[in-house]
Amino acid sequence: MSELLMIPGPVEFERAVLQAMATKTPSHISPDFIEVFGRSLERLREVFLTEEGQPFVVAGSGTLAMEMAAANLIEPGDRVLLVDTGYFSHRFASICERYGARVTRVGAKLGDLPSLEEVERSLRGAKYKLLLVTHVDTSTGVLVDVASLGGLARRYGALSVVDGVCATGGEEFRQEKWGIDICLTASQKALGVPPGLAILMVSPRALDLFRKRRTPVANYYADFANWLPVMEAYEARKASYFGTPPVNLIYALGESLEEIVSEGMEARFRRHRIISEAFKAAMTALGLKQVPALEVAAHTMSAIYYPEGVGKELLGEIRERSVVVAGGLHPRFKERYFRVGHMGGARGSHILATVGAIEGALQASGYRFELGAGLVAAQKVLKGL
Ligand SMILES: *Cc1c(COP(=O)(O)O)cnc(C)c1O
Repeated sequence: MSELLMIPGPVEFERAVLQAMATKTPSHISPDFIEVFGRSLERLREVFLTEEGQPFVVAGSGTLAMEMAAANLIEPGDRVLLVDTGYFSHRFASICERYGARVTRVGAKLGDLPSLEEVERSLRGAKYKLLLVTHVDTSTGVLVDVASLGGLARRYGALSVVDGVCATGGEEFRQEKWGIDICLTASQKALGVPPGLAILMVSPRALDLFRKRRTPVANYYADFANWLPVMEAYEARKASYFGTPPVNLIYALGESLEEIVSEGMEARFRRHRIISEAFKAAMTALGLKQVPALEVAAHTMSAIYYPEGVGKELLGEIRERSVVVAGGLHPRFKERYFRVGHMGGARGSHILATVGAIEGALQASGYRFELGAGLVAAQKVLKGL
């Protein structure tokens, strides 16, 4: 039995990536592994579109990457401004508070964003050390304008930190051009590698701020000081040790990064836009409404309201048709919507299979619509691929 996994992470992984994961584990100081790790660090710069960034790859989930950003940059009493777009923004606030930050939130109603003017008003009102944004909030499917927010942070002397866990490798992102200080992600979403790697790209400005800390980092495992020499050594094709690297996951990462770079970032951004448009056009054609307003909707995933008279039993009906989608996540309304991930290696055939399964499930649930309307709408957009 093979189900198509269309959730916002983990995603469907390419066969070559899974095969790389099955490499007979060598020593973490073997020449072969050193080369794979070193090259992966270089490739990450190509994916984040930066030449000067310092990559970190550490065993852990995306939440560890968030924690590393907070633990290394925050000192007790620092002020942080959080652009609040949902569940993962709240998590980031809790992490920052754990390290002694005073967090101010600027939010909006569900499925929307605060305006740039509102964010600017907050930045003008107090001196913030960090501006935190979630590139795609996985609970609402809202995409923020990272380029403009990064520019605002610079103007007001704050460092920008982007939670790119549901975005990096799929949504357009240009770390250096946009002046972003830290972008963090995890392996299992748009980078297309099984769960287990926390990944960060850190600007020289952020590393500088880290080096000027007055207080020690209050987390031993997360401390940049422990990992920086390791990353630098592997990139110089030398071995180094702090904690045993997740060797097999790094083989898988190496394989996926080669595929990403050979597709090319511009082509990858474009593919994500088109398959997202195809899926969203299908949902609209079926009469289903989306959580985010279309102008602020992500391209790596969709959040869709169940239609009148249908609830989360729809997920089971979709699964009967061999496609797995996710339920709601935002605690305020999670019973009312479902989520579909279409990132990483997602392609047109995945979208068509998913739309087909959703149509079948809707029909089985008694919802009335024109059978095939979603597939027709998706096919039209997919022609542009
Ligand atoms: C998935 C996700 C996380 C958490 O990542 P884990 O790997 O589950 O710890 C954080 N932020 C966003 C935006 C995510 O989508």
